[in-house]
Amino acid sequence: MSDINPFENALKQLDEAARIMHLDEGMHEVLRTPKRVLTVSIPVRMDDGRVKVFIGHRVQHNDARGPYKGGIRYHPQVTLDEVKALAMWMTWKCAIVDVPFGGGKGGIACDPKSMSEHELERLSRRYAYMISDIIGPYVDISAPDVYTGPREMAWIMDTYSALKGSISPGVITGKPLNIGGSKGRTEATGLGVAFCVREGAKKLNVDLKSARVVIQGFGNAGTYAAKFLKQMGASIIAVSDSKGGIFYDGKDGLDVEALIEHKTRTGMVRGFRNAREITNKELLELECDILVPAAYENQITKDNAENIKAKMVAEAANGPTTPEADEILFKKGKLVVPDILANAGGVTVSYFEWVQNLTRDYWSYEKVHDMLEGKMVTAFNDVYRTAEEYKVDMRKGSMVLAVNRVVDAIKARGIWP
Ligand code: GLU
Repeated sequence: MSDINPFENALKQLDEAARIMHLDEGMHEVLRTPKRVLTVSIPVRMDDGRVKVFIGHRVQHNDARGPYKGGIRYHPQVTLDEVKALAMWMTWKCAIVDVPFGGGKGGIACDPKSMSEHELERLSRRYAYMISDIIGPYVDISAPDVYTGPREMAWIMDTYSALKGSISPGVITGKPLNIGGSKGRTEATGLGVAFCVREGAKKLNVDLKSARVVIQGFGNAGTYAAKFLKQMGASIIAVSDSKGGIFYDGKDGLDVEALIEHKTRTGMVRGFRNAREITNKELLELECDILVPAAYENQITKDNAENIKAKMVAEAANGPTTPEADEILFKKGKLVVPDILANAGGVTVSYFEWVQNLTRDYWSYEKVHDMLEGKMVTAFNDVYRTAEEYKVDMRKGSMVLAVNRVVDAIKARGIWP
């Protein structure tokens, strides 16, 4: 990760959209500022008996269109400004796929890889307790993000339910299936990315069957994006994770299923059969058709944007491209499918999960898959059309579309008192 401040980038994107759409000054000011920010210090008894204090945040950016919605991230580099940016991006994301949520985000600065399961459980439960007064199924609904998953969601749901005295599955999404999770939620972000890549390829006249794809990051989003893009006929020629990258340009690219098995067994993509090791810099600058950044913020910057060879950049991660890099990519004629569209499949199926929790009516995988496809294709076309209308790139198009939808809701509800 770099020291570029993600909240400043998020504000630049908003300011640019405000300029393009001649946004009313008051509305602009409302959207620049999160509605509520909570920082908590979380004492945890570690396995060796010592007490360690972790800093956590929950940021609620905007709830004009519905309850705050957004994941919780565990990472050593979590900062309040990062969580504020991620919360704002959630507001836009939910508006773009038109689900009735606002935007929020949580994060704890910790190194989950160096903690035991018991320590992580105590951390998650104590954090849930400390934010319990400001969350709820109709108020603020959390979900997984970097280094959190169904296990953490279950602990948080259980803690919240215990505190409130009734089982409350709708307080969090991304839960395990047996306690109210939705079929298809785990793979939703990657599948949504694949649908966007498919739609983008049509616009570029790129045949997915002969397309070469590079994926940075092999966590939840990257893994499933690789899997579904491969199923759609593309060749995945390079991937990386925090321990390094691999490149294999043979016929049909990497065997993704075997690679997932290799990563599960060894904890890294490196060392996969026949693949050559490459650096992160080499990976981003590889000759390919589609680049999928699926790791962290600020990976494509003014320092490397000139060297990106892919025709399309589909942002599975949140905030991987800085505003300066965006300008460079646009000038070079690249199609950037922005994060708030490309990775919105996750929150879309979170919405489906929440609906299932509230109605106690559970859907088939096919229904989730088809509903997600419908939402993603509609959102892609809405963004594409807005970008054409305003003669801007898809990032700006997506921002204008989202800000419009949120501002409409704020105006309809009115400023009270
Ligand atoms: N953390 C994911 C994101 O950034 C999912 C959020 C959700 O499902 O609420 O979109």
